Order: sequence, then C-alpha cells, then structure tokens
Amino acid sequence: MREVQVWKFGGTSLGSGERIRRVAGLIAEGLRSRDLVVVCSAMGDTTDQLMAAADAAAKGDSQTATAVVRAIQEEHLKACGEAVEDAQVRREVERFVISRTEELEKVVTSASLLKEVTERTRDLIASFGERLSTRIVWGALRSMGVDAVYLEGFEAGIVTDDSFGSANPLMPLTAQLIRERVGGLLAQGKVPVVTGYIAATRDGIITTLGRGGSDYTATLIAYSLDAKEVWLWTDVDGMMSADPRVVSTARVLRRISYDEAVEMAYFGAKGLQIRTLLPAKEKGILIRIRNTFNPESEGTIIGDSTDREMGVTKAVLFTRNVSMLTVKGDVLRGGVLSARVLAVLERLGVVPLMISQSVSSSSISIVLPRQVTDLVVRGLERDVITELGGGELEVERDVAAVAVIGEGMKGTPGVASRVFTAVASKGINVRMIAQGSSELNISFVVKERDVEEAVRAVHAAFIA
Ligand code: ASP
Ligand code: MG
Repeated sequence: MREVQVWKFGGTSLGSGERIRRVAGLIAEGLRSRDLVVVCSAMGDTTDQLMAAADAAAKGDSQTATAVVRAIQEEHLKACGEAVEDAQVRREVERFVISRTEELEKVVTSASLLKEVTERTRDLIASFGERLSTRIVWGALRSMGVDAVYLEGFEAGIVTDDSFGSANPLMPLTAQLIRERVGGLLAQGKVPVVTGYIAATRDGIITTLGRGGSDYTATLIAYSLDAKEVWLWTDVDGMMSADPRVVSTARVLRRISYDEAVEMAYFGAKGLQIRTLLPAKEKGILIRIRNTFNPESEGTIIGDSTDREMGVTKAVLFTRNVSMLTVKGDVLRGGVLSARVLAVLERLGVVPLMISQSVSSSSISIVLPRQVTDLVVRGLERDVITELGGGELEVERDVAAVAVIGEGMKGTPGVASRVFTAVASKGINVRMIAQGSSELNISFVVKERDVEEAVRAVHAAFIA
C-alpha cells in the first residue's frame, strides 16, 4: 500500500498558467512515490476580486461587477491556454471556464438589480474562484497523462451547516462521505483534485469555510482518510520566527508543535485558520509547509514535537489590529468589575486577545480586535459605567500586541525577565502583560509606534 498524502496549493502557487504547469509537474513527480489528493485555492487574488464584484453588486453597480467577472474570465482562459497542453482537454476546460463565468455574470447582474448580496449569495460568488482554478489544474494534469478526477468540495463529501461565510463541517458525516468518495477514487488508482474552501449544506447550497479555508479542506480530507501528512504548498519557505519585513534576521522554523502553530495562527502567521490545525492535531497528521518556488527547501513541519535546538522561544509575532480598554472602578470590590466586563464581552460575542486585572480587582484591562472597539465601548458604558454609577473607561487605539511564542518557556525560569529587559533597554514602555496558562506564550502591549523596535529587541535577545 502506498502512503496517501494531501497536497494543497495556495493562490500564489497557482497565480498564472505557467505556475499551474509547474504545480502539475510537482504533482506528477510526487505521484511516483505516493498517492495524492490535490486541493487547490483560487488563482492569485481571484477571491478578493470576487468579493469586490459582490460589493459592487450590493450597491447596484452591475457595470463594475460584470467588468470584474469578464476580467476573471479572461485571466482564466489565458491561464488555461498556458497550462493545458492537450488540445482536446484544453477545449473542455475552456468550455467549463466560459459556462461558469457566464453563470457568475448572471448571479452578479441579478444581485445588482436587487442591490442586495446576502451572505449566502456572497459564498456562491466566492465559490467560482476555486472551481475555475481547480478545473485548470485538473486539465494540466490530464494533459500530462495523470488520471485526475475533478471534485467540488461537496462532491468530495464536505457537508456543512449554513453559517455562510465561515461554515462548519458536519462531522462525522463529512468524514464518512470523504472516505467513500475520495477514498473510493484513490482505491481505483485515480488522483482526486478537489476545490479548496468550498462546501455545501445537506441541501446542496454552496457554503465556504472562511478566508484561507483551503488549508482546512486539506486537513479535513487528511483526517478522514487517515493520511499521515498534509503538505501546504505556498510561496514562502515556511513559518518564520518573525515577520522578515520587520526583522531582517528572521529565520524559517524547521519544526514546531501543533500548540505553537495555534499560538502563531492567533497572530496571523501564514494566514492559517486555527481550526485547520485541529483535525491534524487530533490524529497526529504532520503538516509540512513547502515553497512551490523553492521545492528543495525543507520547509516547516508542524507536528507533535518541537525543535528544542531553536531554544526556548520560537517566534516573536505582533499585530497592530488591536485596541486596549481599561475599566477602573475604585468604588467596586471583590471581582464584580471583572465579572461585569466579561459578561458584556460575552453578550457581544467578542473574544478578547488578552485580559489583565489588578490584584485589588479595582481595574481590568482587555485587548480586543480593533474593529470591535466601538461596539464594546458602547456596551461597557451602558452596562458597567452607567449602571454601576461610577468608574472610568480608558480607550487606547494606538497600541499593538506582541507575542513571544515557544514550548521551551515551560519550566524555563527567567524568560519573562529577558523579554522585558530587552524591551526596556530600548526605552519602550510596556502597557500591559499577559501570560497564557499554557506557558507557550508571553504577550504584551506597547504603543503602536514602538512595536517594530520591541519585536526586533526581543527577537535579538532570544533568536538571532
Ligand atoms: N481562495 C480563498 C481565499 O483567498 C480560500 C483560500 O485561498 O484558502 O481566502
Ligand atoms: Mg486564496
């Protein structure tokens, strides 16, 4: 029995006909020593373009919406010409591209007339990106003599609830269907080529798994087939110890644990959805990040263990997309304040990134995604400040959060002091500190203008 692996290719890897041909070559090569299920994202920034078409349609601007659709059609026909050598297969893929983009044009024109794009329609519009790209990859593989079978997410067995925009797969039904359908094709010696990101409800209404959801498609399939490895082919050498645009000495991480990857995903690393990692963690499936444009590089392995040689900390990440709220209430005692504040967040469905409370319980600070700041401020003003008849609310939008991540922190004394010594040595003031109970992560908040320097200082102290 040959080993089964799931290989997923991201948008940049499929960014042109020539690139798709290169990807097909990698797949053909890979098939020599293993069985493969291929999962594809949309080409380049097609999904963003589709979202722009949806936005235009919602405003009733059918001209812009159809112009986007035509540009998408043209781009995909061009890619098809470059990627699919066999004339007969190419005609088949071209017909597919034309009929699907015509269908898409009807969708956006109708939506423009209605001046309305529901979440459900938005998912339908978004789904065309993966359908077009995956069909071209299929054609390129057929041209090379690979016995590829094109499957849309739903045909592959991914059935979700109707949370349009970021739907949840129904398990164990999905696992069972994937085993039957995708597993059945593998047993016949075929190569399933599956659209990432898209799925459908039980009734066959198209849904998506949220932005970046193709990775999740890949781990769901691997989970269902008990595959040993998922390879996420992308345009970088792997997960990095920091953003190389900020830290010139940032390096590729050879091996990190699932838990480290989850912490990194919270800070936006590689655009990984956290839930992508869960099926892999549950079954111990290795995830390899590989570079399509540099296939010799080893990439990053995400698995059960971590690279101890890298030291106690693996990565120093940051996000500017936060704000910090501090509620002070001297009049209150005994945890009432925190309970109230957290109750407001819960009611609003807001998950804070960090929480910190003074020992006297007379003040609590929370760090939130910046886009929910106003919502939370209104809620706190009404339900905490006004209702309790006292207290103060301080809002800071010009802050950024830094996370220092690594399994090695557990049981290594002095990590926090090294972190804050490094930051202090640059004269940077730390506004708030939190350490996760998992001891995988020390996070702190600084003013936004100081964040890059703080990241460089901590990275230099621990990594390079
Ligand atoms: N094409 C979708 C996106 O851009 C899904 C993906 O690439 O994973 O978000
Ligand atoms: Mg994409």
